[in-house]
Amino acid sequence: MAKILVVEDNPANLALATFLLQSAGHAVLSANDAEAGLTLARELQPALILMDIQLPGMDGLKATALLKRDQATRTIRVIALTALAMSGDEERIRAAGCDGYIAKPFAYREFLATIAAQLASADSARLPATAVAAAPRSSLVR
Ligand code: MN
Repeated sequence: MAKILVVEDNPANLALATFLLQSAGHAVLSANDAEAGLTLARELQPALILMDIQLPGMDGLKATALLKRDQATRTIRVIALTALAMSGDEERIRAAGCDGYIAKPFAYREFLATIAAQLASADSARLPATAVAAAPRSSLVR
């Protein structure tokens, strides 16, 4: 159905996210740190990225900010995976450029519902972009 990249350093969380995504029919790519995740995102262009916030080295917020600044990856939706549930965190996550977040530990139905909703809005976001791209081409001709 969709190619989804999971960037997560905790093996148990990665295994669970992978299992849930595969059970929903998705192809899963994974990385254990931000640097490997950025490389995979550029090279393999996943439809969606699940980004752990607390990673060794570069954290998930910094990695998301880099993804959103890079022409090659800026349109890929990023969902933060966060164990943090304090007020102010959602603002920090949104400010970094994340399109949504999923709290850990995962609630299975909510997890899959969030993935489905993000994939649906990614699809609908692509349609107007295609229509807009067609217009300037004809105006360039004249
Ligand atoms: Mn982590």
